[in-house]
Amino acid sequence: MKLKNTIIIFGMALLSFSCAENPFTGKKTMALVPNSQLFPTAFAQYDQFLTENKVVTGTKDAEMITRVGQRIAVAAERWLNANGHQGYLKDYKWEYNLVDDKTVNAWCMPGGKIVFYTGILPIAKGETGVAAIMGHEVAHALANHGQQRMSAAYLQQGVALAGNIAIKDEQSRNAFNQYYGIGSQVGVMLPFSRAHETEADKIGLYLMAVAGYNPDEAAELWKRMKANSGGQAPPEILSTHPSNDSRIANLKALAPQAKAEAKKFGVTSFR
Ligand SMILES: [Zn+2]
Repeated sequence: MKLKNTIIIFGMALLSFSCAENPFTGKKTMALVPNSQLFPTAFAQYDQFLTENKVVTGTKDAEMITRVGQRIAVAAERWLNANGHQGYLKDYKWEYNLVDDKTVNAWCMPGGKIVFYTGILPIAKGETGVAAIMGHEVAHALANHGQQRMSAAYLQQGVALAGNIAIKDEQSRNAFNQYYGIGSQVGVMLPFSRAHETEADKIGLYLMAVAGYNPDEAAELWKRMKANSGGQAPPEILSTHPSNDSRIANLKALAPQAKAEAKKFGVTSFR
C-alpha cells in the first residue's frame, strides 16, 4: 500500500481530531476531517469524475436514477428531522448521475454525490431495485463510513493530518477514491467492514421504505447480485463480507421493521 505517498500532508502542527455522531445509531464515530472541509473536496472529485466519464442524460434510465435519488434524499431528510437531527444535511448538495460503464457498481460520495453505472441496472431490474441500491449507498454516506475508513487508515499510518486533505495529483485522488468505493478507475477498492455493511443495509432499508419503495425487494436484489457473481470475483459493490446469505437473511428479517418505520411517516403502500 502506497498510502504514505498518496497523501499530501498540510502542516503537521495540529491534529484536527473530532468525533461525529452517527444519527442512525447514536454511536460516536471518528472523523478526522470535518464535513465542512471534506465536502468541497468530494464535490471537486465528483465533478472531475463526471468530466472523465460518459454521463447518460435524457434517457428513461437517467431520469429514473434522478427520481429515485430525490425520493431517497427526501426520505433521509424526513427521517433525520423526525429523529431530532435537523440541519444534519445542511451541507449536502445532492446530485445523481448515471454513467455509461459496464462495471457493476454505484456509490455515494460525502455530501450526497451519487453515481450509478449502467452495468448495475440489469441486476437492479427496475426502480425498486435501484431504490434498494441507492438507499444502501446513501446510508454509507450519511453514516460517514468512508470518512471513518479514511480516518482509521490515517491513524494506522501514523499520519498527522492537519486541517485539510489535498487532492492535487492523480495518486492522492486515487487514494481518496479508494476510500469511497469509486473503484472502476482505480482498480482497487477497499471493502467496507462487515459492521459498516450491515449498518448501511439497515439504514438503506429504512430509507427506501420511507421513500415508498417495497423493502422486501432488497433481499431479492442481493439474491440477484449473488447470482450475478456466479462464483467468480464478486461485483465491486459486493464487498467480501458479510456473506451474501447472511446479508439476504438479515434484510428479510428487517423488512417488516422498515415497513413499520415507514408507517410512522404515513407510508403504508409500496411500489
Ligand atoms: Zn456497502
